Amino acid sequence: MFVYFHDNPHFFQVPSQKFEKMASIRFVALEKSLDHHPVHVEAPSEKISDYFGEHVFSDRFMQQFMSEPAYKSVRSSILHGTPLERKVADLVASGMKAWAISKGATHYTHWFQPLTGRTAEKHDSFNTPLRDGSSFESFDGEKLAQQEPDASSFPHGGIRNTFEARGYTAWDPSSPAFIIGKTLCIPTVFISYTGEALDYKTPLLRALHAVDDAATAVCQYFDKSITKVTATLGWEQEYFLIDEALVQVRPDLLLTGRTLFGHSSSKGQQLDDHYFGSIPSRAHAFMREFEREAHLLGIPVTTRHNEVAPNQYEVAPIFEECNLAVDHNQLLMDLMEKIAARHKFRVLLHEKPFAGINGSGKHNNWSLSANAPKHRNLLAPGSTPKTNLRFLTFLINTIRAVAEQADLLRASIASAGNDHRLGANEAPPAIISIFIGDRLTEILEDLEKRTEKTNLSSDEKTELKLNIGRIPELLLDNTDRNRTSPFAFTGNKFEFRAVGSSANCANPMIVLNSAVAQRLNLFKKEVDKKINGGTKKDDAIIEVLRKYIIESKRIIFNGDGYSEDWVKEAQKRGLSNVKSTPRSLDFFLSEKARELFSSLKVLSDRELEARHEISMENYKMKIQIESRMMADMALNHIVPVALEYQRLLIQSITGLKEIYGDDFKSHAKDQIDIVEEISERVGIIRGSVYEMIEERKKANKKESVRDQAIDYCEKVKAYFDTIRYHVDKLELVVDNLHWPLPKYRELLFTR
Ligand code: ADP
Ligand code: MG
Repeated sequence: MFVYFHDNPHFFQVPSQKFEKMASIRFVALEKSLDHHPVHVEAPSEKISDYFGEHVFSDRFMQQFMSEPAYKSVRSSILHGTPLERKVADLVASGMKAWAISKGATHYTHWFQPLTGRTAEKHDSFNTPLRDGSSFESFDGEKLAQQEPDASSFPHGGIRNTFEARGYTAWDPSSPAFIIGKTLCIPTVFISYTGEALDYKTPLLRALHAVDDAATAVCQYFDKSITKVTATLGWEQEYFLIDEALVQVRPDLLLTGRTLFGHSSSKGQQLDDHYFGSIPSRAHAFMREFEREAHLLGIPVTTRHNEVAPNQYEVAPIFEECNLAVDHNQLLMDLMEKIAARHKFRVLLHEKPFAGINGSGKHNNWSLSANAPKHRNLLAPGSTPKTNLRFLTFLINTIRAVAEQADLLRASIASAGNDHRLGANEAPPAIISIFIGDRLTEILEDLEKRTEKTNLSSDEKTELKLNIGRIPELLLDNTDRNRTSPFAFTGNKFEFRAVGSSANCANPMIVLNSAVAQRLNLFKKEVDKKINGGTKKDDAIIEVLRKYIIESKRIIFNGDGYSEDWVKEAQKRGLSNVKSTPRSLDFFLSEKARELFSSLKVLSDRELEARHEISMENYKMKIQIESRMMADMALNHIVPVALEYQRLLIQSITGLKEIYGDDFKSHAKDQIDIVEEISERVGIIRGSVYEMIEERKKANKKESVRDQAIDYCEKVKAYFDTIRYHVDKLELVVDNLHWPLPKYRELLFTR
């Protein structure tokens, strides 16, 4: 009798008596995965606009549910980035409660982003019992503004002593409350009793405030009516979608989010047949459902497509104000994971779940937008010489800022997962450089040369202005998009492409906005000094811009960022190329970083040190878990299976000996080869695992978390490749029926 794995192209007939004994748990999972038919999602008869934002306490609901003074106070807090006035908090809370209850909410939570990298929530019921046995729904200003989470186990890097375990969460009015399920979620900052930031949102808000002030001041040179500048962010989220049954029997995917073992599949992404291909129906059903949920929450997701690697996809929204965009990305990652479960999928947000094929990133598209004339993108060239000079001002200041803080930007995207991507010929290298395209490079070179002389004749000045005026036409055909650059100007925004797929965008956004704020402040000072010295405003601006072009030229690179030549060239130019997370995290404690963050009041020294320690600890833990998982899988899953197969071979050899006597060797040659290969590889695997465990013990004894993290990176992780190499070779040797782990072809091609 045979069990026939019909429908599934990868399987042959398996004798069923043997199935239980021989065929591994992998076959059970594969059989299960065949039952996972597409979940039928009812096509909503309404248009998206009918339900978009229904679960968000947005402006229209605030006006409907709040009194006029309460509404005005919230608007002013949002506009000025100030805390809500205590005296209206009760009114705001009662409006919010009325709205939430009208939508069926029974609980509320302060929703925040601790330094674990994900979001946290603790639900409390609105319902308050009374002595007479009845109850009522209560929620007041105090509960809205501040809460004391009993949460002493969030990472704090020494900021919070255990005897002072309180942390406070306070509503951030610039991010509206929303409802998930039956819970009202209130986006909050999370700070210690002594006022230090314990989350991502607090420093992000401070950085956004700083860039608003700095950019608005610079805008005054060009347009007095500009009173506010907003940083905008549009992220593009890449992810893998893997059948849940298969993930359940891959302990590495379950516990670390990536495959620690797995020989590459015969077919991977060579044919480029997945990218922009037609979306498989199961994946499509999943996308439609999470997009609907996202739209209810006001997350403006618009784009979906297949990515380069098999079973890899991307989702992207329309850009939004930076703080809101960060919240929405965090929220969406959560939603995707929850909804995937309903579709028997597992979403992998890890940067590198599979070796040998592309990993996942999260491009951060960034720009600055002024409030006058209505939503003016400061990185879009305008139609007059004046608006183009403004464009050049923001473009060149950003380039100068990135050149100055390149190391810190590199550190802002460092993580154990992203280490596998950066420089791995699929993602930008760990060297931060900027792509601006040939045309823009020529324009900057021209500006630099033309203004070499300090005293331009009036004709020369006219020509310069004319040239600046021509920028939009020149940029129109500037379509060459270089995909290998970590930081690219793409026509009207910069795209930070080195961000990891699982990252909280806040980290890179804190650094980028702070760096630009700092540079714009210095720019203003330099220009003002020249103006006070008698130079005309436009000339002063052009002179400082010219200086900035010269100072930051070395970071501009339009060539192939994946090439070996660039690595050498970058070294000549003195650009850093720090490949590991722990080494790059040290940039956070450099004098330059301290100066940047403290002068803008984004992060104090103490906060920086705490963050540095938390990131180091997080890195160490991740590698420790991977290392343990690897040892467990190698010793408990792989080696026994390899030895079992070896035993069968030895039986066969013994049988041959019985038949052929001393002559058996010529008949058993291949079996003997395999027996020897298994012994050799098992020996190396076990030897390496035990040596790795010894290195772990040594690393754990190191005094500081930083030294531990460095040892985990440089000494413990050093064994991963060897162990993996031999396990993957065994995968090709051991009988397919025995192999316990779903193989790459199964994980990546099961739809
Ligand atoms: P790609 O070719 O890299 O996929 P797209 O042109 O599709 O890039 O756009 C990528 C993202 O850029 C979108 O999420 C979009 O919302 C965002 N974007 C466009 N303009 C801006 C802007 N001014 N500020 C921030 N993000 C922007
Ligand atoms: Mg992109």
